[in-house]
Amino acid sequence: MQELIGTCKCCEKEIFCLDGFFNGVKTKEKENYCFECYEKLSKTDENPQS
Ligand SMILES: [Zn+2]
Repeated sequence: MQELIGTCKCCEKEIFCLDGFFNGVKTKEKENYCFECYEKLSKTDENPQS
C-alpha cells in the first residue's frame, strides 16, 4: 500500500507514504523534499558560512 504525498520541491521526485513510512520530509512550510535533497538543504542551513 503506497500513497502519493507529493513531489520533491527540489528534484521533483515523487514522494510516497509506504505502509506508514514516509520516504521524504515535509517541512513546516508544507514543502515536500526527498531525503537526499533535504539532507543537502539541512547541511547548508547548519553551515551558512562554509
Ligand atoms: Zn529531491
